[in-house]
Amino acid sequence: MTTTKTKSKSPTSKAKFDLPEKSKADVARAKRILDGLYKEYPDAHCELDYTNAHELLIATILSAQATDVGVNKATPGLFKAYPTPGSIAKTTPAKIETYIKTIGLFRNKAKFVQGAMKSVVENFNGEVPQTMRDLISLPGVARKTANVVLGNAFDINVGVVVDTHVIRLSQRFGLSEHTDAKKIEKDLMALFPRAHWTMLSHLLIWHGRRACKARGAMCADHPLCKKYCSNAKGGA
Ligand code: SF4
Repeated sequence: MTTTKTKSKSPTSKAKFDLPEKSKADVARAKRILDGLYKEYPDAHCELDYTNAHELLIATILSAQATDVGVNKATPGLFKAYPTPGSIAKTTPAKIETYIKTIGLFRNKAKFVQGAMKSVVENFNGEVPQTMRDLISLPGVARKTANVVLGNAFDINVGVVVDTHVIRLSQRFGLSEHTDAKKIEKDLMALFPRAHWTMLSHLLIWHGRRACKARGAMCADHPLCKKYCSNAKGGA
């Protein structure tokens, strides 16, 4: 599991992804925020349970519009019944549904999980691919899911995972003025060093889950909030 890694392998995706220009002052401020997040959340990591790349891929597909806690309750049974990509590829979505019924949108997700593993077996020799292009060719896999798998299973920083917490905190910390996830991701990629992209999203998500909750937010009490959030007095 990724924690405070600062190294990453070279990305294998050559896809062009133009980034916006950022001032030195903005990059320096981003570094201060990153340092502060690492200090506050030294144990931040992906909160989905998995033991290998295909389990993480499945868990991430299941996590769309669902909580990690809910996914983690369902996946042990699923992974025990179907321990390999090949075993899931051979089963039916209806059988997968029986293990994931507690998760929202389970019917579609069962189809995606079965389809993704079928493609892994048929097109990638049973191994989860390690490029953005190949990953997003799998059913149910878009850029966010691919970023989760590349960053956490393979230590490859191709982009930043932008979920609801990352969107909210990017805006509140003044890291992006956008509401669109793709544009926010570009801003974050331009502001933060590539080696920290995977950890950046974990750190923002941990702050979002622990301090910046919809109810009971720690505005004005939390040291990072006080310093950097537009919602807290003194944010800069
Ligand atoms: S100040 Fe409030 S709104 Fe801003 S990040 Fe902290 S908890 Fe969230």
